[in-house]
Amino acid sequence: MKQLDSVYLSDVSPRDKPWDKRRAATDGFKALYEGTIHHCYAIRLADCSCYLEFAFAVDENGTCKLKLQTARFCRVRLCPVCQGRRASMWTAKTIKIMPKVLEANPKSRFIMLTLTVANCPLLELKTTLSEMHQAWRKLIQRKEWKVQGWVRTTEVNRAADDKAHPHYHCLLMVKPTYFAGANYISQERWVELWRESLKVSYQPVVDVRAVYAKKSALEGQEDNSVITALVEVIKYTVKPSDVLRGDNCQLPGQRVRISDQDWLVELTTQLHKTRAIATGGILRDYLKVLENEPEDLIHGDESGETQADSESPRIGFDWNSRNKRYHMKPETAVEEDTNQLVEMRS
Ligand SMILES: [Zn+2]
Repeated sequence: MKQLDSVYLSDVSPRDKPWDKRRAATDGFKALYEGTIHHCYAIRLADCSCYLEFAFAVDENGTCKLKLQTARFCRVRLCPVCQGRRASMWTAKTIKIMPKVLEANPKSRFIMLTLTVANCPLLELKTTLSEMHQAWRKLIQRKEWKVQGWVRTTEVNRAADDKAHPHYHCLLMVKPTYFAGANYISQERWVELWRESLKVSYQPVVDVRAVYAKKSALEGQEDNSVITALVEVIKYTVKPSDVLRGDNCQLPGQRVRISDQDWLVELTTQLHKTRAIATGGILRDYLKVLENEPEDLIHGDESGETQADSESPRIGFDWNSRNKRYHMKPETAVEEDTNQLVEMRS
């Protein structure tokens, strides 16, 4: 039997494994913010999700899962842990409204649309984002825009030459007639519409694909293709791996690159007061009610799945920066439950 103080969160609950990676990235961001104009964020990140307390919950199949009950989040826009929690929260919110949306519009179809612009110097990111936003306003006023509802996220990647690569990921809800005859917008036409909205002379890269229901859904089984598309759209707005590249990976003879620290600090300044997620049309109407809810980063990822009851036993984990893992706090664990779980896994 394992000693309880050498039990890790990832041992007890493999599905909670991403916590270690995200929290380690938060440590990385904290180190980069230290001593800069955004030093206050270093202090907030240091305190983010250092202790996680879960309750045991058993689902209808008898599988035991951990449900987060207590944690403190820093809520800094680019914090890797908080970005992940926010994405889960938004996904859960949208999943929650989907049955109602589909019930009212059973024939609607979904499209994933990615709109990009030419990469820009990081110092021009804020201006570029505002130009994209103006272009978006123009696009959705076009006669051809027959979209019933949409969710749009803004992602910013770091290109190999340290330029910024801002782009929109959108999930569009359309009437089934979108795919018929004159209403259909081809990929080439989307490029043209986006180019005209942006008022640029180059051909911007646009990716468009229909979300197809899986065959199993046609046979009466539950279909998750829209949910999968949603998870794809609502993910990180800034990938932690784009920031934490390591400044030593530069090859000899290469031009001096922007350091990770300079990249993160300037990115934070450029993204200040910009929007990561926007919604419109029918989807907005349904989401509006939820949008006004306070941002619940603890329970926000629960989309009606197994809930823990207040009586269920708790288990706590402390973040250990040295070995980059969440360690179980033995005194918080109900020994029998934990041993059972650990033995099940090992
Ligand atoms: Zn955080």
